[in-house]
Amino acid sequence: MSCSSSSGSDEDDEGFDSYRKGGYHAVRVADHFAAGRYIAQRKLGWGQFSTVWLAYDTHTSSYVALKIQKSAPEFVQAALHEISVLSSIADGDPSNSKCVAQLIDHFKHTGPNGQHLCMVLEFLGDSLLRLIKYNHYKGLPLNKVREICKCILIGLDYLHRELGIIHSDLKPENILLFSTIDHSKDPCRSGLSPILERPEGNINVGVTSLIEKRLKRRARRAVAKISLKRDSIGGAGEPPKSARNIDEIDVRCKIVDFGNACWADKPLAEEIQTRQYRAPEVILKAGYSFSVDMWSFACIAFELATGDMMFTPKGGGQGFSEDEDHLALMMELLGKMPRKIATAGAQSKDFFDRHGDLKRIRRLKFWPLDKLLIDRYKFSEKDASEFSEFLLPLLDFAAENRPTAQQCLQHPWLNCKESTPNEMRNESSVEKVNIGVSNLKIKVGK
Ligand code: ADP
Ligand code: MG
Repeated sequence: MSCSSSSGSDEDDEGFDSYRKGGYHAVRVADHFAAGRYIAQRKLGWGQFSTVWLAYDTHTSSYVALKIQKSAPEFVQAALHEISVLSSIADGDPSNSKCVAQLIDHFKHTGPNGQHLCMVLEFLGDSLLRLIKYNHYKGLPLNKVREICKCILIGLDYLHRELGIIHSDLKPENILLFSTIDHSKDPCRSGLSPILERPEGNINVGVTSLIEKRLKRRARRAVAKISLKRDSIGGAGEPPKSARNIDEIDVRCKIVDFGNACWADKPLAEEIQTRQYRAPEVILKAGYSFSVDMWSFACIAFELATGDMMFTPKGGGQGFSEDEDHLALMMELLGKMPRKIATAGAQSKDFFDRHGDLKRIRRLKFWPLDKLLIDRYKFSEKDASEFSEFLLPLLDFAAENRPTAQQCLQHPWLNCKESTPNEMRNESSVEKVNIGVSNLKIKVGK
């Protein structure tokens, strides 16, 4: 199964079409699972393979996350694999201190769409993607970025060094805070009692809420269009949104979603990782190991600090593919890929000539990381150089040269205290337009 398709976007819903035989299980509030042990409370999220619900565990009187897999055989297979990975993760971490979500239980649930494997995980809060959005894509204060990075690295060090597991789909959606950003949404803190019986008149909350969400979204889009128009003709529009108080948010976090994880000695798929977080050796099909997670980690750290994804390749219609654009963007930021590495993959010939130059994208516009941080993101020179020194080794084209999570944990950047306050960086309004660097490229050939 292709791993790259496993990303549940935060914005869109999971779609009705997948509520059919072999697909998702439709859940209603107060539905019972595992002979009544777990009671569904509300939907927390979803992915290509599953929906995830907040559930009340009547045995322990606590809240858990219930991940209900689609029922078709390939999803069952994937869930069995995920359960085996999660079990070894839980077995090796009895004190639950390694920044990886803990599996509590698993069982089968039969519904109209088939038999679904269900995983019960400790309940966690919002994803880093939500945190980035909450902060209006402004970039978090560097002390917060540091704290988050430490947690991710503790998790990765555990997975890589102690268990031999590659996550292979590390991205902001798959890292969850310990608690919700909005405390009123935290079932433990909100003080509300759990829902144990079906609310009256509730026909099918899972699906009706989907309809409502769609209608709301349509309305939001219409409003957005109108205000965009107004802005462009010089109207007042909305006041610029400023960053909220991020300092009070507890940013301790854990790695989740082991649906694509594998043991390093038994790689599952050739194409792994979600596009923007994909390492160059995966694109080139040159083999991979733990260091693919380190690449994604660096992309995440950049995104946390700037609010922008590090690489957003675009393909199609411009004479080059998304893969080639991606490789070009990497080189524009990191310098030319050494010829030996560029030409070593099974897919290399699609992109590179024998000199190690891209075939279709010729004129690269180099913009080194520290300069980018200063010019576009208004970092101080000190912050930019320290942060680049932390990130660049992780983005080494030679995968074997990237530091391990364990080495990375020793890096001075993680332990330095001072940095330019966030307000200072963000005051000068940084244009949040994704400048497609690929626009500047010269096409060659046909
Ligand atoms: P998939 O493999 O289908 O992508 P994930 O494991 O990534 O499924 O879960 C999908 C979404 O559900 C996550 O992005 C997150 O929003 C939510 N979620 C997953 N696990 C938990 C958890 N333990 N606590 C709270 N929310 C969770
Ligand atoms: Mg996921």
